[in-house]
Amino acid sequence: MKSLQQELDRRRAEHLYRRRRVLGSPQGPLLQVDGVELLSFCSNDYLGLANHPEVISAMQRGAQQYGAGSGSAHLVSGHSAAHHALEEELAEFTRRPRALLYSTGYMANQGVITALLGRGDTIYQDRLNHASLIDGGLLSRASLKRYPHNDMATLANQMDAQTGGESLVAVDGVFSMDGDLAPLPALAALCKKQAAWLLVDDAHGLGVLGQDGCGSVDHFGLGLDEVPILMGTLGKAFGTFGAFVAGSDELIETLIQQSRSYIYTTALPPAVAEATRASLILVQQESWRREHLQQLIQRFREGAEQLGLSLMASETAIQPLLAGTAERAMSWSRALEEEGLLVTAIRPPTVPEGSARLRVTLSASHTFEQVDRLLDGLGRLDQGAPS
Ligand SMILES: *Cc1c(COP(=O)(O)O)cnc(C)c1O
Repeated sequence: MKSLQQELDRRRAEHLYRRRRVLGSPQGPLLQVDGVELLSFCSNDYLGLANHPEVISAMQRGAQQYGAGSGSAHLVSGHSAAHHALEEELAEFTRRPRALLYSTGYMANQGVITALLGRGDTIYQDRLNHASLIDGGLLSRASLKRYPHNDMATLANQMDAQTGGESLVAVDGVFSMDGDLAPLPALAALCKKQAAWLLVDDAHGLGVLGQDGCGSVDHFGLGLDEVPILMGTLGKAFGTFGAFVAGSDELIETLIQQSRSYIYTTALPPAVAEATRASLILVQQESWRREHLQQLIQRFREGAEQLGLSLMASETAIQPLLAGTAERAMSWSRALEEEGLLVTAIRPPTVPEGSARLRVTLSASHTFEQVDRLLDGLGRLDQGAPS
């Protein structure tokens, strides 16, 4: 048996040790973290709905009506009217025939990939795809081909070389640690040509991009025909918890029959579904949240540029600052924390070796003054060239 302590010590020495912070407050710009108030720029609550009074009261009403827990899996006796209504509303929102709720995004990605692919099939993944897509691919036993980030030429060559079996291209609509978009129109055209499935994981695009927050797929004007499998999460811009897959009736029926992470797990608490129904209305109706977020993004990028910070090519709420080494990312994060700012460092293996970063995220609940406070803090960091 290997020594766990030795491995833990190694992680610590390499600045890769992870630790949790204990929150004493709801999500929002100001957090009570381990008893101290910090101004946070690292949540995925992009529209500021996680602590919205209407979402909270919908959850309370849901708990009154349905109780605290769902009691079982969807296929046993856990599929409530709240779940069902949310599925119908998500299908309408995404303009797809049907949607299916999963308990988490991690499980949705696993569930859809393993239901569609097996031995002898091939899955193509962008190198920067989320871990849940990668893990879903591995679990499916399909052969895994990774292509360099957004490199359509390499992907096309890889697909040309495939000799048999089903093929599926899986991609983040908005890359979770970089904030840039996948070239979805080109991917859709390539998948159509190759008769391959296209799975777009829009965890960071839904609510934020597109008409009424319809996401990256809508941003590019792509429908069901171009993107047959759309996956979205509800714990980010929607401010609640859970995930869904939207697509054709046949796809959803196939998932209900075969998707193990759908079948063999307890359904979300119905109250969470009720809360999400309330946030879905806010997502669509309160477009000022998206507009304000865009203004904050612009303010941040202009300010960061003036400071000479090494911004990445992102137009979304995810605005990473490249540090290079894990050590530098950690020291930046600590220096900001001393000034009352919470921006977590993202290190390998979440991002590739040598590309540790601060992942700044903005939310519609931030004010311009708060963004300026962040810029002040960033301006005082020990810069130098990225190491
Ligand atoms: C967060 C995230 C997931 C996982 O969703 P959960 O509901 O948190 O499990 C999947 N894909 C991407 C791109 C994500 O950012």
